[in-house]
Amino acid sequence: MGPEPDVLRLQRALRDLVALSSVPAAWVGREPPAIASGLADVLVNTLYLDFAFVRLSGPGGGAAVEIARGSAWRAFPEWRQQYFAAHGRLSRTEVVADIRGGAQGGCGIVIPVGIDGESGLVAAACDRAGFPTETDQLLLSVAANHAATAFRMADLVHNHRSAEEALRESERQLRKARDELEMRVAERTIELQRSEAYLAAAQRLSHTGSFGWDASSGKLSWSEETFRILECDRDDQPTVEFILQRTHPYDRARVQKTIDLATQGKKHLDFEHRLLMPDGRIKNIHIVGHPVFDESGEFFEFVGTAMDVTERRRAEEERQALAHANRVATMGQLTASIAHEVKQPIAATVVNAQAALRWLGAQPPELEEVRQALERVAGDGLRASEVIDRIRALVEKAPPRKEALALNEVICEVIVLLHGEVVKHGIAVQTQLAEGLPRIQGDRVQLQQVILNLILNAIEAMRGVGEGARELRVSTVKADAGGVLVAVRDTGPGLDPVKLERLFEAFYTTKPGGLGMGLSICRSIVEAHGGQLWADVNTPQGAVLQFVVPRGAPEVQPEQPPPLVATTAGPVGG
Ligand code: ADP
Repeated sequence: MGPEPDVLRLQRALRDLVALSSVPAAWVGREPPAIASGLADVLVNTLYLDFAFVRLSGPGGGAAVEIARGSAWRAFPEWRQQYFAAHGRLSRTEVVADIRGGAQGGCGIVIPVGIDGESGLVAAACDRAGFPTETDQLLLSVAANHAATAFRMADLVHNHRSAEEALRESERQLRKARDELEMRVAERTIELQRSEAYLAAAQRLSHTGSFGWDASSGKLSWSEETFRILECDRDDQPTVEFILQRTHPYDRARVQKTIDLATQGKKHLDFEHRLLMPDGRIKNIHIVGHPVFDESGEFFEFVGTAMDVTERRRAEEERQALAHANRVATMGQLTASIAHEVKQPIAATVVNAQAALRWLGAQPPELEEVRQALERVAGDGLRASEVIDRIRALVEKAPPRKEALALNEVICEVIVLLHGEVVKHGIAVQTQLAEGLPRIQGDRVQLQQVILNLILNAIEAMRGVGEGARELRVSTVKADAGGVLVAVRDTGPGLDPVKLERLFEAFYTTKPGGLGMGLSICRSIVEAHGGQLWADVNTPQGAVLQFVVPRGAPEVQPEQPPPLVATTAGPVGG
């Protein structure tokens, strides 16, 4: 007699359970596709089910894996598809009776894998009578639980790996970013060093140092060039006291006052002063500084430049001395005609005074005649003294002074002065002076000197031509950008068009007793006024020398130190 059917069932169930219990070990460390096919194989090969279908979610929420085993019936896949189309995620075990319908029989069971089917599901079908029995359901859920555990393990491993990978990736990114940053810092450092070197070179070349003065700490900082200009040790702490100590005693009080005013009033700073070096040398320094405010309008520092203008000042002084020497020499040449210019009103004074005496001696005295004669005496006296004043201004060595000038007036004054010279050489003078010209900023004496030189050159050039053809024309017109253009034309031999620029070279002369400095000095004077001077061929004959001076707003001149030694000069030969 065989064993009882219940005992047989129990034996089979135990055998299946034992078989199932060995499965998880095989799944450890496996990926979901291996787990899913392992589970489907167990269901079909170990539990002898006709059909098994396993779906496991992708690790980390990725694409799901689907495995089907057994192909006994066609109805199962169709059912599966319909079933899944109608149901979403499976949260509990469901038994589906009579999948194939009719007499063929066959039941299906769907079991969630993991809590609420989070890891997937298992579907199985079998046409064994009574399927799924309680034991079948138990075995299937054990299998599904094993799969769920393996899946969770796989998921954990996956997540762990992803986390590790992400960590490695972020480490890699971090390293890359750090490397890039280091490279950028190195590049910027090189750039910065280069631009600092350029700046230092530029400061050295332009003799311009820079400085900063921190308002809160009162700390002063200087660039390399500032140290060099002040000729002090690089290790010395910059101080205002040191600057004042280096400042020429004559300028000290003025500098102290200027600095105090600018720092207290947080004002722009622009002044020039002299330094007295320990070995007695004098340096001219031009300081420009301005206050810097933060966004809230709070003053926080003073920055500026200190420029060594010693050379420039020296060159200017030399140019002025040269221009002065040229004026004195020119006036020397003109002594004869100037003497005539002065003698003429004096002679007229004598004549008129004698006439007045005669009218007074008449019986009765002709008082009206006397009055008229004395008026002429006074007029001539004034005329003579004006000529002398102008000559004196031209030979005096006064510091340059810019003022608003009407160029037409300046021209007329020179023409009056040259009246004798013009008459002496039988020259017809014509002026075409435009009306309503803007005033220009300039030094009267220097501009008179330019016009004087141009007219004298024209007079000299016309010496060689026949007397009737000697014509001098001086004209002014409004130039572009509000300046004034002055032209001096003559009917002399004219100029060689290819040598026009040579005329302005120092010491270029074609005259036996010439110095060749006149036009070169004229050009430097005009350029110091921001203008230009050039020569051209006149039509139909002769030369034309013209210059343009811009209208120019009054220049902001730095406050200049007064000369150390007052210069005095009297009229030439006087
Ligand atoms: P200098 O009068 O002592 O020679 P300048 O510099 O005034 O020196 O002039 C340089 C030269 O330019 C003159 O020697 C002369 O050859 C030429 N020059 C100047 N003005 C005229 C002019 N109006 N016509 C012809 N040549 C001129």
